[in-house]
Amino acid sequence: MQVRRDVRLSDLTTLAVGGPIERLLQVETAEELVAAVRDADESGRPLLLVGGGSNLIAPDEGWPGDVVAVRTRGIEYDAADRLAVQAGEDWDALVAHTVENRLAGMEALSGIPGSTGATPVQNVGAYGQEVAQTITAVRVYDRAEKAERTLSPAECGFAYRDSRLKREPGRFVVLEVTFRLAPGDLSMPVGYAELARTLGVGIGECAPLADVREAVLGLRRGKGMVWDRADPDSRSAGSFFTNPIVPAERAVEGCPSWPSGEGQVKLSAAWLVQHAGFGRGTRDGHVGTSSRHSLALTTEDGATATELLAFADRIIATVQERFGVTLDREPTAVHPWCS
Ligand SMILES: Cc1cc2nc3c(=O)[nH]c(=O)nc-3n(C[C@H](O)[C@H](O)[C@H](O)COP(=O)(O)OP(=O)(O)OC[C@H]3O[C@@H](n4cnc5c(N)ncnc54)[C@H](O)[C@@H]3O)c2cc1C
Repeated sequence: MQVRRDVRLSDLTTLAVGGPIERLLQVETAEELVAAVRDADESGRPLLLVGGGSNLIAPDEGWPGDVVAVRTRGIEYDAADRLAVQAGEDWDALVAHTVENRLAGMEALSGIPGSTGATPVQNVGAYGQEVAQTITAVRVYDRAEKAERTLSPAECGFAYRDSRLKREPGRFVVLEVTFRLAPGDLSMPVGYAELARTLGVGIGECAPLADVREAVLGLRRGKGMVWDRADPDSRSAGSFFTNPIVPAERAVEGCPSWPSGEGQVKLSAAWLVQHAGFGRGTRDGHVGTSSRHSLALTTEDGATATELLAFADRIIATVQERFGVTLDREPTAVHPWCS
């Protein structure tokens, strides 16, 4: 296991903020991952797990303990066509692999950066799909029980951009995720209007898997939502706020909304941010909104997590004041005292 002391959290995160790391451990097998976590816990050193660092707001003061970079690899098929994937596998490479191997179920999740092990944490989703639709099991190391366990989807408590793994922060270390996909050349029914329009199909119709992947990648690139070091609009954590779910009678006039469970609607966070005065390309010091998507907050060289969070708080307060709606942050802001 490689241990380094010369790395900053800003080197490991797509927002490129965060201070020095006391010890960075890079683990390449599930056994090394569990051993590193046990060792940190037994020694009382604060622990932070990092996959691709694409959903993390890392503290400016840095990390006074162990940061474990999860780089475990391996994809295994079982007889029932299930894929067991090690946590460190790159998510988008996995999606490309499934499309090439004619397996449907994750094609609309193309182009999302980060690791497979982080996908159940916030039930990653986009363009009408989410990982909860295909996950059959999540193998974890439970730091509370000090034991490995397999969580069923019900035990994961998946919800919109949420899960038990997120609600009990720090408790579960994801080792492996198992997915069940559908063999064939066609995608799952397309459930997102913009994607259906791009593909020239109706909502609920299917399209060739490879076409769906290409269409999603094209749409995402147009919004700066494919991580690319050369694209300043992708120096973000993706969408910074989730779409708020409110009682139907509190829908905001003019704001796009979708039914979301009995008597509730999901409002467009992008519309709320934009109409609160933070349209695309709004800058404030070294941070701001992406020039192609008001929901993605981006950073420039010299930015700090403090500056970013203050800007986000200003957006939250203005949306609350103008529309009476509370925005929730999507990426995780981590602190050593709650690890
Ligand atoms: C340009 C861009 C576009 C994006 N688009 C989307 C999108 O469309 N939909 C979407 O849902 N998200 C999107 N995201 C957010 C992000 O890519 C996903 O949430 C992704 O799953 C995070 O993976 P990661 O490995 O980078 O996690 P990290 O940022 O490394 O970690 C995120 C959290 O998970 C924890 N974690 C990491 N690995 C493990 C593990 N093995 N076990 C337990 N906990 C772990 C971390 O401690 C942290 O709390 C986007 C981000 C960017 C930068």
